[in-house]
Amino acid sequence: MKVIVPIKRVVDYNVKIRVKSDQTGVDLANVKMSMNPFDEIAIEEAVRLKEAGKITEVIAVSIGAAQATETIRTALAMGADRGILVKTDEMVEPINVAKILKAIIDAEKPDLAILGKQAIDDDCNQTGQMLAALLGWPQGTFASKVEFDGDKLLLTREIDGGLQTLKLNMPAVITTDLRLNEPRYASLPNIMKAKKKPIDEKTPEDYGVTIKTHLEVLKVTEPPVRSAGIKVESVEQLVAKLKEAGVIG
Ligand code: AMP
Repeated sequence: MKVIVPIKRVVDYNVKIRVKSDQTGVDLANVKMSMNPFDEIAIEEAVRLKEAGKITEVIAVSIGAAQATETIRTALAMGADRGILVKTDEMVEPINVAKILKAIIDAEKPDLAILGKQAIDDDCNQTGQMLAALLGWPQGTFASKVEFDGDKLLLTREIDGGLQTLKLNMPAVITTDLRLNEPRYASLPNIMKAKKKPIDEKTPEDYGVTIKTHLEVLKVTEPPVRSAGIKVESVEQLVAKLKEAGVIG
């Protein structure tokens, strides 16, 4: 049984984002890039399924610039078996990513695709859902627990006020939520081993996909600067201030 895990190279979540002065986007010059955190969780889950003997192969796929090879190497060091880099320098919207992933899945015939629930750069939360629709596969989004039940998949989702458990037929698409697992750090020996694992290099055209743009980002702005707070001397003063601000009646 094979699993495909799409991983995106994004600005590291610890980086303090700077907006370009012309407001056309985020400044990426000399900024640390890493694997999207939800995709690390997806790789971890796939590797755990492999370690538990439930699946046999984990394929990490990234669509993006040549540097996304580093992101794939990280996935290989965490335990993925091989990688596919679909190289493009264009901005790839989720529908384009989903079309490329569908073509890879048609060729590789995995039993499961595990994606992150969202990429922390575009916050789209679209690719997994679009991929499931293009494939006609069942989808379980925002998974906080994944188990096999014979040839089906039991998936727990965190929903408002509780948990929902779904039974999915396979093949299926699932997307990861934050609490699914805690991704491992790659050990030095595994980082060394990962250097020998294969990465196929492809282009969107190899999969018959022409990247199309459907959206134009009009502008990106910094969040408003918060004004400084004040220190109150007593509970009475705090209550008075809260009343003044209309927070309490
Ligand atoms: P999004 O719909 O952009 O929020 O992304 C959701 C998920 O789709 C990510 O967590 C990844 O698993 C996958 N994904 C999105 N863009 C890419 C990409 N360029 N390469 C590989 N996987 C991607």
